[in-house]
Amino acid sequence: MKRRDLLKGAAAGAAAGATTIAAPAIAQERIEINMVSTWPRDFPGLGTGAQRFAKRLSDMTNGRMQVQYFAAGERVGAFDAFDEVASGNAQMYHGADYYWKGKHPGWAYFTAVPFGLTYTEINAWIRFGGGQELWDELAGEFGLKNLMCGNTGVQMGGWFNKEINSSDDLKGLKMRIPGLGGDVMAKLGASPVSIPGGQIYENLVSGAIDATEWVGPWNDQFMKLYEAAKYYYYPGMHEPGSMLALGMNKDFWESLSDSDKLIVEAASAMENDVMMSEFNAKNGESLAALIRDQGVELREFNDDVYDAFGEASDQVFEEARAHSDLANRIHESFLRARTEVGGWAKISDVAYISQRNRVLGV
Ligand code: CA
Repeated sequence: MKRRDLLKGAAAGAAAGATTIAAPAIAQERIEINMVSTWPRDFPGLGTGAQRFAKRLSDMTNGRMQVQYFAAGERVGAFDAFDEVASGNAQMYHGADYYWKGKHPGWAYFTAVPFGLTYTEINAWIRFGGGQELWDELAGEFGLKNLMCGNTGVQMGGWFNKEINSSDDLKGLKMRIPGLGGDVMAKLGASPVSIPGGQIYENLVSGAIDATEWVGPWNDQFMKLYEAAKYYYYPGMHEPGSMLALGMNKDFWESLSDSDKLIVEAASAMENDVMMSEFNAKNGESLAALIRDQGVELREFNDDVYDAFGEASDQVFEEARAHSDLANRIHESFLRARTEVGGWAKISDVAYISQRNRVLGV
């Protein structure tokens, strides 16, 4: 080796040495994160979105935050995700917070409620309408800290094995429909059940349930729900923009540095956006395929059925808000957002899309 190379090597060694000496001052501990989920592994949109978030958080930190992801059933069952994280056995979950409405009805508002908010509306409420503060207060009561981490957009009304021409047609139906939407169906004489996504198909095929909602064309096509029920109703009153949650153990969250909190928030906000984009990109094509290839009968709930949904929703809301002071404050805040943000949506998104489609004949 020439002398010049030796000198270069020595300089490089000195630089590396300097880095090594300086490093402890800025070095941060590797953070091991176990993340559980309410979704089956690789389930399109919901499961893949949660997995994409887990990978993103690891990648954004060059593996310093090491997220080990467990789909539903791989570590705990779908509906045990909450307790697993609240207890500190795991640090994060990805799921739909309305699954926890039995613990407190306030949770339903942080996924979707009947006659609730669309994607853009709920984002406005959470970020600028006091929603995040109330979510923090509710989650704090259970030892959690939650963030928006995905959205399905407006969901379909569901799959039925007969036409629904009046609310009488709902009587006696055993339907998979979680959240406060299930309570609305109960008011109308149906029997709502809440079962995880991974078990819907077998229950519908076996006749254990007569009807189900799940998400929308892209997800429902994957689930092959058309094999057991042909009538596919829209729009779903129960989930107009289902927000998915990143739930974190509160002690874990508070142990993070300010910059790590920002990284988690950024990764989660990105998934909130990316998942919605993916659902919007794929639902239209899937709907066309369902009708073309599977003989699915698309139906719109008529005004009479929707009026009945509305009356039943009012009763369900009165019961939910009577639960506690916090439930009432969540409901009041939600109502304000629905009036104010929804009032703007009426003359912006709704009016524009309606006119565009009219002119184009869509
Ligand atoms: Ca749903």
